[in-house]
Amino acid sequence: MRAVRNTERGIEVVQVDEPAPDGSGDERAVVHVRSASICGSDLHLLSFGPMPVTLGHEFAGVLDDGTPVAVDPSVPCGECDQCLGGSAHRCRTGAQRVRGVGSDGGMADAVVTRTSSLVPLPEGLRLEDACLVEPLGVAAHGVRLAGLTGGERVAVVGAGSIGLAAVAASRRLAGDLDLIARHDAQRAAGERLGAGTTSGEYDVVFECAGTESALTTAVELCRPGGLILFLSTPWAPIPIPGFAASMQELGFRWSFTYGHHEHGSDLGDAAALLAGAPEIAETLVTHRFPLDDAAEAFRVAADRASGAIKVILEPSA
Ligand SMILES: [Zn+2]
Ligand SMILES: [Zn+2]
Repeated sequence: MRAVRNTERGIEVVQVDEPAPDGSGDERAVVHVRSASICGSDLHLLSFGPMPVTLGHEFAGVLDDGTPVAVDPSVPCGECDQCLGGSAHRCRTGAQRVRGVGSDGGMADAVVTRTSSLVPLPEGLRLEDACLVEPLGVAAHGVRLAGLTGGERVAVVGAGSIGLAAVAASRRLAGDLDLIARHDAQRAAGERLGAGTTSGEYDVVFECAGTESALTTAVELCRPGGLILFLSTPWAPIPIPGFAASMQELGFRWSFTYGHHEHGSDLGDAAALLAGAPEIAETLVTHRFPLDDAAEAFRVAADRASGAIKVILEPSA
C-alpha cells in the first residue's frame, strides 16, 4: 500500500507493507484512511530530516466493517503516574509515542490503531472532514482548561488552523471574541467563524502562534489578572515580557493535545462541534489533494501566503 514519508528526496509516496494487526494488546483496529490533514508540526518535523515512519497524526477513515471513525493518534504507555492518574496525554514517554511521529501515522492507505483510540463519528460529520477532529480537539482541550464559563472577552492571537480552531471552539461561551491574523485569508476565515478585530482588553487570550511577537501582543491584550492560554507549540524558547506580566499578575497556562473529562473526551466534543457546524470545516479546509500528490500538498501547506489553512490528503480520491 501507499504511505507518505520524508525521505532523502523529501516528501514521497512510498510502497510499504499492509498494516497487519498482530493481535497483541489493543492494536487491533485497521483504519482505511479517507482523510489526513497536514499540521504545522508535520512541516516542522521535515526540518529534522528523513524519518523511518509514515507521517500524519490527523486522520479519519473506516474500519473493515465500514464504521466511520476518527483516531486519537497518541499511544500512551498506560503505566506511568500520568497515565494511571487519568492524564494519559501527559504520558511520561513523551512525543515519540504519537502516530506519525514515533510510529506509522495516517498519511497512508491504512493504519493499525488501538481500538480504544477510535472516536465514533456523529451523524453529519463527513469522513472527508473528520481528520479535523484532532486539531479541533486540541482547541477544545484548551478552551476547557481556560475555564470559560460564559460571557468572557476572549482574544485569539495567531490565525493558523489552531487559532481558527480556538475561535470555533470558544465562540459558544465567549462574550466578545476577537482574532489577530497575519494574512488576509486567515482574517476572512476568522470573520466567517464569528471573530471580530481586537479592541480593548480581554479576560482570556489564546496564544496560537508560538512567537515572541505573539506573546508580546497577548500580554498587551490581557487584562490585569487575566489568563494567557498557550495552544501553540513553541519549538524554541520565547522571551516573556515579564515586567508587564508580573505587574498585572497574568496567569500563564499551557495546553497539550486532548484528554478525557467526566462527561466524555475533548476529541468527542470536537467531533460533535464539527458535526453541528459544517461551516467550521468549510472554512478551515482550503485545499484537498489525492495521496499521490503529497509533495505538492506539503508545498502548499508550507506557503501561508497562498491562503492555505488546512490541506487535506485523500487516499481514496
Ligand atoms: Zn497537529
Ligand atoms: Zn504513560
